[in-house]
Parts: sequence; C-alpha cells; structure tokens
Amino acid sequence: MTINDLFHSMALGPAPESAAPAQQWLDSHQRRFGHYINGTWQHPADTATFATINPSTGAHLADIAQGDAQMVETAVTAATQALASWSQTSGHVRARYLYAIARHIQKHARLFAVLESLDNGKPIRESRDIDIPLVIRHFYHHAGWAQIADSEFPDYQAVGVCAQIIPWNFPLLMLAWKIAPALAAGNTVVLKPAEWTPLTALLFGEICTAVGLPAGVVNIVTGDGATGAALAKHPGVHKVAFTGSTEVGRILRTATAGSGKKLSLELGGKSPFIVFADADLDAVVEGVVDAVWFNQGQVCCAGTRLLADERIAPELTKRLLRRMQTLRVGDALDKSIDMGAIVAERQLTRIRELVAQGVAEGATCHQSDCALPEQGYFFPPTLLTNVGPAATVAQEEIFGPVIVSMTFRTPSEAVALANNTRYGLAASIWSQNVDVALDVANQLKAGVVWINSSNVFDAASGFGGYRESGFGREGGREGLYEYLKPKPRPAPPLPVASFRICEAPESHLVGVDRTPKLYIGGKQARPDSGYSRVVNSPSGRRLAEVGDGNRKDLRNAVEAARAAASGWAKTTAHTRAQILYYIGENMYARGGDFACLLAAQHGLTATQAAGEVEACIEQWFHAAAWADKYDGMVHHTPHRAVVMATPEPIGVLGLIAPTAPSLLGSVALIAPAIAMGNAVVVVPSQTAPLGLLELYQVLDTSDVPAGVINIVPGAQHTLTKTLAEHADVDALWAVGDAELHTLVERASAGNLKRTWCRSDATSDWLATPYRESLRQAVQWKNIWVPYGA
Ligand code: NAD
Repeated sequence: MTINDLFHSMALGPAPESAAPAQQWLDSHQRRFGHYINGTWQHPADTATFATINPSTGAHLADIAQGDAQMVETAVTAATQALASWSQTSGHVRARYLYAIARHIQKHARLFAVLESLDNGKPIRESRDIDIPLVIRHFYHHAGWAQIADSEFPDYQAVGVCAQIIPWNFPLLMLAWKIAPALAAGNTVVLKPAEWTPLTALLFGEICTAVGLPAGVVNIVTGDGATGAALAKHPGVHKVAFTGSTEVGRILRTATAGSGKKLSLELGGKSPFIVFADADLDAVVEGVVDAVWFNQGQVCCAGTRLLADERIAPELTKRLLRRMQTLRVGDALDKSIDMGAIVAERQLTRIRELVAQGVAEGATCHQSDCALPEQGYFFPPTLLTNVGPAATVAQEEIFGPVIVSMTFRTPSEAVALANNTRYGLAASIWSQNVDVALDVANQLKAGVVWINSSNVFDAASGFGGYRESGFGREGGREGLYEYLKPKPRPAPPLPVASFRICEAPESHLVGVDRTPKLYIGGKQARPDSGYSRVVNSPSGRRLAEVGDGNRKDLRNAVEAARAAASGWAKTTAHTRAQILYYIGENMYARGGDFACLLAAQHGLTATQAAGEVEACIEQWFHAAAWADKYDGMVHHTPHRAVVMATPEPIGVLGLIAPTAPSLLGSVALIAPAIAMGNAVVVVPSQTAPLGLLELYQVLDTSDVPAGVINIVPGAQHTLTKTLAEHADVDALWAVGDAELHTLVERASAGNLKRTWCRSDATSDWLATPYRESLRQAVQWKNIWVPYGA
C-alpha cells in the first residue's frame, strides 16, 4: 500500500502497546503461580495446574495452581487469624492501607492494564482508561469509608471472614469491588479469581505485600468452580460475595442455606436499551457502541435489548449498521481497535450457537464486514432484527457483542417490554424529555438506570440487581452494608401500658363462639382446607379455633398482595404514615382486648401482656415516623451527572413471625415492611395466632387498602416452604430456629428472592437497628442523569 492509497483510504495502522513489562513480570515468576496466602506465595509441590492464555493469540501466558480443599483451609485459617486484629484496627489505619493500595496501583497502572488485556482480551484502551482508573477510584473511595466507618455506622460491625468469588469479564475491577469495601469495614478476605483471568489478582497480591498489609488480611486462592464451591462452603467463612452467572448464584444460595453466612449475589442481566422518538439518534448510536460492544459485550449490565419507538426504528437501524462497519476488531494490545477478543473458545462457541439459534427462530442477522484476526477468539459486532420478545436471544444472556432489536409504540409498551425478563440489573433510556425519561426510570425493574448514557460506573454509586440479577449492592453507602452486620444488643424492655388492663384474661374469650379466619385481600376468608386448628393456653385450655391455611390460601394471599403492591408503592409516604398512625391509634383503643388475648395465649401477667401491646403501638408509630424519612441520596461521582439513589419497595414480602412474642413479633415485621411500600403475606405464630388475627378488625377500620396486609395462619413450616418456593414472592423474612432458616434460604433459590432470617432463641432480634429493617424492606435504584447545556 502506498502513501497515496493510505491518504485516500484513511485506514488506521497498527498501534501496538508493548507487552514487554508484563511478559517480564510473568518471566520473573517463571510463568508458574501459586496461591497468595498469609502474605506469602504457596506453591504446593504436587498441585495440579491449569494454563491461562492470551485470547487474542492463543499464546500460553502462565500455569496457575488449582486450589483444593486443603489450600482453601489454609487460606481461611490465615484470614481467621488476621481477623482478630484487623477488625480492631482503627478506621484511620485501615484507611491508610487502602490509600496506599490505591497509590501503588496508580504507580503500576500500565502494567496492570497490559496484563489485564493480555489475559482477558479486552482492548488496552478500555483496561487503561476505564478498568484500572475505576479500580484506583474504588480503593480511594473506600479508604474514605474506612476512615469514617465508626462514626457513620455506629450500630454495625465487620461481618468476619469473607469468601469472594469473581468472574472473568472485569477481573481486577471485580476484585476491587469486593476487596475495597470488605477491608474498609474491617473484614478479612479469601478471594478466588476466575480461572480464565487470574493474573491481575496475583499481581494485586504483590501490591498487598508492598504496602505492608498485615499477613492474612487478603488471601488469593486460584482455581475453578470446584475451588469456589469449597471456599463458599467452608465453615470458617462468615460471608460469601459472588459475582457471576445466575446459575452459579443459585447453587451458592442453596449451598449456604441455613449456615448463617451473609450472602450477596451480583448475577446476570438482559438489560433494555430504550430509545424514544425524540432521542438524539447520533448520541444513541454511540450509546449502543458503549452498551454492547464495550468489552465485546461481556458485560453483565450490557444493553442487549434495543427497544426503539417504531417511528424511528428504521432510521436507527440504518445508522447502527453504518456505525458497525466502522468498528475495528483486533489484538487487545492494539491501541486503535474498538473490540478485542472473546475471553475463551468455549465462550465464543456459546455466542455462535446462540446467534445461530436466534436466526433459526426467525431473526435477521446483521454483522460488520470488519476483518477478524486469523488467530484468537473473535466475533464481529452483531445486530439481530425481527426478534420477538419471547425469542431465546431476547431472553437469554448471550454475553457477547450481540444486540437484539424490537419496537414499541407507547411508553407503557416500552416499560412492559423492558420488564419482560427474569433479570433486573440495569437499563438505559434515551429521550430529550426529562419527564418521560424519569417516569420510565421509576417503572423499570432494574438496580441501575442510565438516562442518555450507558455503562457508566463509579465507586460512590451502588450497583446491583433486582429479581434474578441477584441481591446486594456494590459501591457507595448502600454497598458498604454488605460487609457490615448489626452489633448484638439486648431487646429493649417492654414499655408500661398507657391503657386499662384486663385482669381476667381467659374470661375475655368466653361468650359467643368466635372463629378467627384468614385475612386475604381485605376480607375474612374461610380456609380452603375446611379445617380449623385449636389454640390452647399454656395450661391446656382450649381458647379458640382458627382457620387452617394451606397452599391455595397462600396463592390467593399472594395474588391479593400482588394486586395491591403497585398501588401501595405509589401511595405517598405521607399517606402511608397517616395510615400507620391510624393503626396505632385504633390498636390503642382496643389495647385491653389485645392484652387479654396475649395474656391468655402465653400465660403472661396482665402487665406483661399490656406492655407488649403498648410496644406494638410504638412500632406502628415508629414505622409511621420513618415512612417519609428513609429517603434517597444524590451520589457525588466524578461525572457531570446527578446520580439519584432511591429506595424502592421490593414488592410482595412473605413474613414468618416467631412463636413469641406473638403479636409484637408480627407487628415488628409488618410495620417497617408496609411503611416502605411493600404488600405482605404474614404467617403468624403457629401456636399463638390470636393477637394478629384480632388485628384485622383494626386494619379494617384504619384505611389499610385491601391486600396490603394478608394473614394466613396454619402449619408454619408447610406455609413457609410454599411462600419460599412461590415465584411471585419477592422477599421472605423469617424469625425462628435454624431449621426454619435453612428451609427459607434453600427453598427461595428458585427465583432468588431476598431473604432475611433472624433467630428467635431470644428476643434480641427486636433490638435490630430500625434502619436495618428499613434497608431490608427496600431495594436501591441508582438513576444516572447526565447534564450539560
Ligand atoms: P460463572 O458463574 O461461571 O463464574 C463466576 C465465578 O464463579 C468464577 O470464579 C468461577 O470459577 C466460580 N464458580 C463456578 N462454579 C462455581 C461453584 N459451583 N461454586 C462456587 N464458585 C463457582 O460466571 P462467568 O461465566 O465467569 O461470568 C459471567 C457471568 O457473570 C455473567 O452471567 C455475568 O452477567 C455475570 N456478571 C455479573 C456482574 C454483576 O455485577 N452483576 C458483573 C460481572 C459479571
């Protein structure tokens, strides 16, 4: 090619970044790596190894040790030994270490970037300008949290030893998202990087040594899924933090059920990219490039479903096809390419198969004609049109540079299409009309919503999903809670009642025969089974018979709650507060009756029973007070954007109340849940349900909308299992024994509902910081709104 040809074609030549420093670093380790444990490298003599390769060329980079159960044991022991002093190390000292880590990564930023691109195949432009700067930002940001953790979270403490398992798509960034908050909060960690991309995590081990981090605070064990499984199930681990596929997330939910381990899951996604007719189409085209061709589409929150207003869809498709042709695909270390290599051959095969399936199901496949390198694992930028909402490619995560397009006519149709997925990680909305954009943002089931932007991240802003995209947040204040737990506190003493006390409790139950029923959709309902359960006093006296609920009753209750949930969520917090006060007021008016019931059921003294009722009234008032005060935040990120973090109701909550205190135990669950806008299905104490069943008379007179509170008494374990397995229940709280916790956590793996289990061995769970109850009752959505005239 002559200069004259080049002048006319304006083609870019290769601009390779040198791999020499990274190759030298690999050579300095003889291209064989052990595990980083207790501040030293462990090279077990007879250990199995596996190779990590450069996906751009297929070249061998290094051999990596396969961690077994023994290595996991060694690492967890080191983390346990380090925990005692690290968790007591002052926040300021922890901040200094995190600051030093940030500074050291900054000093070696290019080495990290080159190593990342070599190991993962991502363009050096992205690892250099996006991944590594975000890693550094994360450690800086969390140095700050370490510094102020004591004053900002006075009721909380570190969780303990954290097992952290991460994927291959952003290897060092995922490490930073895990390790920085864990250390800031005073935890120690054992991290397992993905088997395809372990190198930057191993280099990070050297940084830990260089900054003098106490031995055992950070441990890195390499290996595949079996190593991850051994780590997650190790009894010395107090918390499992996982980022990866929904499939493995479900395995971990089941494997940790009943262990008492805290769990956060950052899973897959199928995020919508919604384009309204008034959007700036040129900006949209670049937005799609960022949404789905960034990192070869191997991004959990990639905008892979293009939903366009049908009026502009043809023009948008035309412009996208033109832009696709200009994208360059090539060696990750070439500074002027747009897309690098797919991480591994297996992943490339999966992308090819899914695209072929899409075409077989009727999609039209448009691909860039760009030249692909002959070696390595490459896939061209791809757009699939003529795709129906139920098509495999519209529902399954492809995890490659493939976007599918569909059209809509109205904003409500766009919302319905966008939410038509089992996932709920992120969404992108394009419109110049801020009213439309924010209205739609509020209706989307997604943890992150980008308006007129896509794939923007920052350490100050929480990231995480709704539904089967998992639970928990990473980044910001909301993310730090994942590495904290409430400090143990004794239950507060019961207050002194302010109403007249019934002196002969059991006499209250004599007279006209009463059969408390179920309470579903604002009405008393007879049990489907046609059976009743006997409620006895502690002395064995028959007090009453109550309807015996079964799975059909629960199905009706969940339907009623679902029907009520969206209206209740839209009810203003001011109105919810008024209703909660009103419940308290009406309960007070009947305080003596409730006290009699409690005294008879539990054999309490009149003073104790009345104290419990008084505490219930306080609970209603407390929830009412908080209803309009647990509000959102605006995060400070380095971007010209307002990042609004808003707490949203989760939806339909199942609540499993403790045996005792039967009424206060139920009210302490119901009040914060409905204050935050959720609808609930409550399974009351199996042996003492009378107090709660009496409550429906109060609910009927307190303007509580039908279906917001539903009560189904019956065999607690059977009903719990049904609620846990119910796909339309979004979260489940239970106060009970270890057996109940195991049941709740294991059976909820199906739709990955959020769970919150507390022990009823003592009443101490009633001392849970109120903010924790509210936090458990909401999911945080971060809405990014960029600005600029
Ligand atoms: P993966 O689930 O196969 O593997 C993730 C990690 O889990 C790896 O380290 C792997 O070795 C380990 N693992 C595999 N089986 C295990 C088991 N049984 N027990 C314990 N650990 C096990 O996922 P992947 O293919 O590496 O990554 C891609 C997935 O990650 C995609 O679904 C993507 O959406 C998701 N992801 C999510 C986020 C997020 O923040 N939500 C971020 C990045 C990636």
